[in-house]
Amino acid sequence: MLDLASALKQHFGHEQFRPLQREIINDALNGRDVFAVLPTGGGKSLCFQLPALLRDGLTIVVSPLIALMKDQVDALRTAGISATFLNSSLDRSEAAERFRLLNRGEYRLLYLAPERLMLDGFLDAALNWNITQFAIDEAHCISEWGHDFRPEYRDLKKLRARFPGVPIMALTATATERVRHDILKQLKLREPSCYVASFNRPNLTYRVAPKTAAYRQTLEFIRTRPGESGIVYCASRRTAETLAQKLTKDGISAQAYHAGLQAHERTRSQEMFLRDDARVVTATIAFGMGINKPNVRFVVHYDLPKNIEGYYQETGRAGRDGLPGECLLLFNAGDVAKQLRFLDEKPPREQEIARAQLREMVSYAETRDCRRATLLRYFGEEFGATSCDNCDNCLEPRDTFDGTIPAQKFLSCVHRVRERSGFSFGINHIIAVLTGADTEAVRLRGHNELSTYRIGREISRTAWQAIGRELTRLGLIAVDPGKFSTVELTPAGREALKSRRTIMLTKLADPLEKPARARAGQINCDEELFERLRVLRRRLADERDVPAYVIFSDVSLREMARSYPTQVADFARIPGVGQQKLKQFGEIFVAEITSFLSDHPHTIGSPAESSEPHNDTPAPGLHLTASRRDRARLAFHLARCHFGENGARVVRGAQ
Ligand code: ADP
Ligand code: ZN
Repeated sequence: MLDLASALKQHFGHEQFRPLQREIINDALNGRDVFAVLPTGGGKSLCFQLPALLRDGLTIVVSPLIALMKDQVDALRTAGISATFLNSSLDRSEAAERFRLLNRGEYRLLYLAPERLMLDGFLDAALNWNITQFAIDEAHCISEWGHDFRPEYRDLKKLRARFPGVPIMALTATATERVRHDILKQLKLREPSCYVASFNRPNLTYRVAPKTAAYRQTLEFIRTRPGESGIVYCASRRTAETLAQKLTKDGISAQAYHAGLQAHERTRSQEMFLRDDARVVTATIAFGMGINKPNVRFVVHYDLPKNIEGYYQETGRAGRDGLPGECLLLFNAGDVAKQLRFLDEKPPREQEIARAQLREMVSYAETRDCRRATLLRYFGEEFGATSCDNCDNCLEPRDTFDGTIPAQKFLSCVHRVRERSGFSFGINHIIAVLTGADTEAVRLRGHNELSTYRIGREISRTAWQAIGRELTRLGLIAVDPGKFSTVELTPAGREALKSRRTIMLTKLADPLEKPARARAGQINCDEELFERLRVLRRRLADERDVPAYVIFSDVSLREMARSYPTQVADFARIPGVGQQKLKQFGEIFVAEITSFLSDHPHTIGSPAESSEPHNDTPAPGLHLTASRRDRARLAFHLARCHFGENGARVVRGAQ
């Protein structure tokens, strides 16, 4: 029996498997087909990389992103693993050389795009290689139901027939059942073991803030997180462009990324972000799968996403390394109206689906329940605990107050306006009447003569908007999903108006103004040393022309800046330090730490250590320094359930 744990430490420097990795690797080693659904950051690569090292032969990894292959192969090589890739970026002689080595069986892993693998000539050549496994990464690209459908992936259907004896592993982070079934069917997986991990990302904090002054809010958010990288998602190319320009002018290095850019411009933005030359990418949803950057610390949604699936995938790009990641959604009713307007041009069936998805998204944004639980419920997963301690609603439960008087004013204004004009108006018009705005729209309709004109002038427009949202949430008014977003009293609203019953409202909270930051997954360390190690890492990465994370992850650096290893033997115990990296970088880092300590003789035993006693050090990865309770919650249970297709055996990992 192979000792998987020591192989994990030796090659990758990790102390523990993440949920389901061990089971997946065991099945792969036993020659089974495997279907692995792990969220972003769940550690999918390891599932095929470790088996590739533990047996003879070649593992072929199919990946849709040519731009990423080099980085992945660089990371493997830095860990001392013989891997290569073939794609159009190589010149003829380089490709010929790699073929020669492949024929000699010199590689354990080969990365390829599907269109190359499926070339007839290529498959013939490949028959001579001792292929022990195909790993299909981003397997959802094969499905037309998914959002990343790639026609080239369809050819992979022929793989099974050409290589009937070679097991296939399909990997994806897709959350929808329909796409999962499609993958199983199209790749013709044989009695596969299906692994579905929990989609909970405990190290991500979810927050929603009322969008009042979007740019100022975003700038403030980024400024208060100096040195951290993040993504700002926006709805249009134009917003992405102007945001990048404005942020740059305000002293934050930012690059735009959207489908309207030339391919080389997109690659450049991505590279700059990856190599920390740009701290922020302002992007449309075109910026997706390729972001293999493990230390994205925040994802801001400047505009309302179209659906929860997309929102989950986009926020999922934060905190892949297991350290804290913050997800902030800026939300106002205007964004909903804007999206509804775009829908008008679509065919009716599409409109219907899009409206339903948007409704789910809005209800996520408006909920007072735990956001994590709400997200997980959407993907069919129950979050067991009553509080996640890591979303705005759990961290800062909002106070309620007796809002009967303003609510009555609002409801009766909706009623009066309609009574007067015979049809309904939008929320902004209602607020204009309440606050006594002297506008043409108000005068023209005689709404300045209503008894409700000016009765709400003591309350600001923003506060009225919040009250409007509250009344919608309570089901007392309803906003028409059509073009004009008009508001009407619901039967419950009419009843409340008549009976004058007490109406409790929640207080307006702007999480941006509350500095309290939850940091599940945080590793407290000596920030000054961490900075110095970052500079060293950067230099080593630049010398080798690779992204910084290829040298060491932030987790490794933070652990170094917490335990100050000054002996190579101690350094070897740092998470992420495998045999090869120890040999290559051990002495350089130990020397840097030693020199830091001689510059700061009083360091050891001060804040970094006291914040987290060493004997309480949890395993690395997702579990890092989460509270005991979180860790217990994280300890996952396996439950078997039926999936049925192709004789599949399903293992589900819950939180
Ligand atoms: P995915 O493709 O599922 O998003 P990756 O394979 O890119 O995830 O892994 C995400 C990060 O987690 C990487 O930085 C990787 O080194 C790290 N990682 C993977 N497995 C482990 C583990 N068992 N312990 C610690 N870190 C891990
Ligand atoms: Zn919560």
